[in-house]
Amino acid sequence: MLSPSTRAFLAQPIAGWVNGSAVIGRSTIARDIVDPSTGNTTAQVFDFGLEQVSEAVTAADRCFRQQTWRGLSGQERAARLREVAANIERTSQTLAELESLNGGKPFNGPAQGEVAAAALTFRYFADLAEKSFDSEFTPTLGGPGLRGRVIAQPVGVVAQIVPWNGPLVMAAWKVAPALAAGCSIVLKPSELTPLSTSFFGQLLRDSGIPAGAVNVVIGDGGTVGANLTQDPRVSKLAFTGSTTTGKRLAAQAGPLLQRVTLELGGKSPVIVFDDANITDAVSGAADAIFGNAGQVCVAGSRLYVQEGIFEDFRSRLLSWTQNIQVGPAFSPDTQMGPLISAEHRTRVHAFVEEAVRAGATRVCGGEIPEGAGFFYPPTILTNVPEGVAAATEEIFGPVLVMESFSAAEDALARANRSDYGLAGSVWTADSARAEEIARALECGIVWINAHGIPDPAMPIGGVKQSGIGRELGEIGLQSYLEFKSVMTRTAV
Ligand code: NDP
Repeated sequence: MLSPSTRAFLAQPIAGWVNGSAVIGRSTIARDIVDPSTGNTTAQVFDFGLEQVSEAVTAADRCFRQQTWRGLSGQERAARLREVAANIERTSQTLAELESLNGGKPFNGPAQGEVAAAALTFRYFADLAEKSFDSEFTPTLGGPGLRGRVIAQPVGVVAQIVPWNGPLVMAAWKVAPALAAGCSIVLKPSELTPLSTSFFGQLLRDSGIPAGAVNVVIGDGGTVGANLTQDPRVSKLAFTGSTTTGKRLAAQAGPLLQRVTLELGGKSPVIVFDDANITDAVSGAADAIFGNAGQVCVAGSRLYVQEGIFEDFRSRLLSWTQNIQVGPAFSPDTQMGPLISAEHRTRVHAFVEEAVRAGATRVCGGEIPEGAGFFYPPTILTNVPEGVAAATEEIFGPVLVMESFSAAEDALARANRSDYGLAGSVWTADSARAEEIARALECGIVWINAHGIPDPAMPIGGVKQSGIGRELGEIGLQSYLEFKSVMTRTAV
């Protein structure tokens, strides 16, 4: 049963936000927002027309030029970011319910991980908003009496594209650092998951974020998203999503020389050595792939287990997996919810079917259940022939490909044999070996005896086909800054 405040929110038209006002899209056709746990429509939205997208960029551009936000002191911006964090916590019941209703995330109460993480992200970047990223240097050429400075300034208007697998927390990961830096923003949630972002637009306004500093546009990627990102007034694109779309955005950004940070797909390895704590490694490997039904960019979708413990590990992982309760987001027993849509489930299942046709062994799962909702069982595959897409491509579902390895070099060679390079984890009691593997893995994030734990202070992002740049941490904030050099002759 949804809380009265969530029901009140859903009873209103789902709005975007332009220049501090709620705006309903001008599209004449309403689009259904579907609860993936049931397949039922929970809300309807109207997409923004292209002139409304342009109005949102105009509002952000005006806010930037008039310095309504970036002109505030770091302390003042920090105070408002802390107010955002407090308001996220105050409204956490509704935000958590909207995330579960729209994305199928198991409902764990108002302190649900991603809502708490969103608040924490605003607190972290509030502290950084008070910090100066200016620096000084002593010129060595040009004679005496010269002083050198590097001034950090916000990059300008940024377009932020957020995917459906973590609508609120990923909006926080993008909006908080950009606001801390002094940028103005146009934010686009996925067409599938606009609910919490619409609510968040109001929350930002109520927290004292001035009109135009954060605008929210509603609509699909191909039209609304493409028009937003190709607006020449946009100085930077911050995108999370598939490698295919990320490459398209990077190509479009080229002629405009827009700055880009792209957090793209992954096929992250989990390497378990025979000296690892097996109990921890089994639960860790299961969480790494079945958390959020595998719809996580850093999902540990390739599991490499040292040969001496492979059979034992496989049977323990199988019993762990068979105990995972798959069900509707609001059922109290549910540990794993549905996939985001029927189309996505078809796509996930196609990977499994192709692998089985090619000779892979289905240890468990791999069948679409009867009934309503877009559920898919936790699935483990072994003996997947080399080159089959299930072993190489991002599936973005609860599908694990498991193999054995002999020695560390073998594990490393297999782990790095991927076009992707987002994340990975290594499980071992040998800290020197763990360090060696962590340094040798070709990826942007490594966990040792853990997997998938985010932190606002930990930069995330990938190498190879997994993206460009980093989000979060001080580096994440700096990606929203330009650095201007100023040299002054102080004495003649
Ligand atoms: P996309 O990359 O197409 O979508 C991600 C985001 O980009 C969405 O907000 C989408 O909007 C937007 N978008 C799409 N096209 C454009 C465009 N031309 N210009 C601007 N924005 C655009 O991923 P899908 O949702 O189609 O998912 C497909 C696969 O991508 C998944 O199965 C998964 O493998 C991967 N993926 C990876 C994610 C990650 O966290 N790394 C997140 C999401 C997907 P809209 O949804 O409104 O179309």
